[in-house]
Amino acid sequence: MPIKIIQLKTLQDNYAYLLVEKSSKQVAVIDPGSAKPVLKTLAAENLTLTHILLTHHHYDHSGGIGELKKHCPKAEVVIHKDDADRLPVTADRRIQEGEIIDFGPTSIQVLHLPCHTRGHVAFLVEKSLFTGDTLFTAGCGKFFEGTATEMHKNLKRLKTLPEATKIYCGHEYTEENLKHAHQADPTNLTISERLQKARRRQAEGNPLVPATLALELASNPFLRLDDVTLQQQLKTTNELDTLIALYRIYYRETPSF
Ligand SMILES: [Zn+2]
Ligand SMILES: [Zn+2]
Repeated sequence: MPIKIIQLKTLQDNYAYLLVEKSSKQVAVIDPGSAKPVLKTLAAENLTLTHILLTHHHYDHSGGIGELKKHCPKAEVVIHKDDADRLPVTADRRIQEGEIIDFGPTSIQVLHLPCHTRGHVAFLVEKSLFTGDTLFTAGCGKFFEGTATEMHKNLKRLKTLPEATKIYCGHEYTEENLKHAHQADPTNLTISERLQKARRRQAEGNPLVPATLALELASNPFLRLDDVTLQQQLKTTNELDTLIALYRIYYRETPSF
């Protein structure tokens, strides 16, 4: 039986995710920015947490762990070693690149993607990738603790995953990101169409996350740095300069590189 994914809204625009593996009673939460929606769902579904997985240490992704630990003391707090000492609670397991987390009959793979924070990771579970604040739907996270060169490497790596991979990110920024994407690449029809759809869905109160990697490859400019039309629009001639130009459009500042 495949893992069930329950998507929860937390705080302003964050997403937390519950992963449920029924046969082995393994239950993980990814990035609980607050405990309340997680506890509510655990109670409604009669579940107990076994894992608390964090893509990085930021409070909007980890603020709920203290309270979750009180309710589920056996749940293991898992975070990359470079972010572990910046949590308000003690990490139970410090992970690094390539590590595998056992999860009943399946497993969770750790991809270290430093840049947003030093210890940022993504979790790959079956065909779902939980990207935190590294890759967003139609966008990319801020380079708080890394350079454009490092993010470029991360993005190139993510592009190699199977196109059917579903991208579950840490925030609902899709519509906002698509506006920036359209500004950067106005002749890209997939972006215009996706923006129209996003406006409709957002107005109806529906989430725009997850998205398939196939859709991201067609309409997320951060995964299209080698696209000639995009480079022409941004007056760049290589991938790194294209990444920097995009960052300026999305965040109105120049990153270090
Ligand atoms: Zn963050
Ligand atoms: Zn965040």
